[in-house]
Amino acid sequence: MTEDNLTSSDFPSTHGTSLQNCQRMIQKALLSPQVRFLREHLENAGCSVGDNFIQAVNCHEEGAVAAGYFQGQGIVVCCNEVESQDDVNQSLKHELIHAYDDCRAANLDWTHCAHHACSEIRAGHLSGDCHFKRELLRGHLKIQGQEQECIRRRVLKSLSANPYCFGRAKAFMESVWDVCYNDTKPFDRAP
Ligand SMILES: [Zn+2]
Repeated sequence: MTEDNLTSSDFPSTHGTSLQNCQRMIQKALLSPQVRFLREHLENAGCSVGDNFIQAVNCHEEGAVAAGYFQGQGIVVCCNEVESQDDVNQSLKHELIHAYDDCRAANLDWTHCAHHACSEIRAGHLSGDCHFKRELLRGHLKIQGQEQECIRRRVLKSLSANPYCFGRAKAFMESVWDVCYNDTKPFDRAP
């Protein structure tokens, strides 16, 4: 299971959206080209994304988790933590990368910190979590190297929820960084 913060703590004033509106945004996101592309590749890899694969819920955990992927179950979008269509699109792309990783690697073990780190690096890189505009909204203005810095920050945040990474998250992230950052499958290159 992975849980992902969408908005970082520098962006604390989220109020979310209603479940109804959230469901509408999910349906709309499913039509976006990159989300469709990822779903197609999941289907081709033998992991179908059925109607119930993506659930719109309100989450009550501390720490403003925006979405999560649950192995063998699907994706949860926390409607009380998403603000815009762009948030939903990006969250779905991120979680679908986790689902894709789970699907293609029979031996992927989320309790293994290096495996989890690798999937977070890929999800952060390929979902657009750290595209420049989103970073600006979070108040991070440094330009050079901002994307990789942003991905690293968010990978560590996601790994902090994994007890198997305790105290070792950064070391594991760095050990797999190059391989996983450059692995852009199923995309030819990062979109
Ligand atoms: Zn993630």
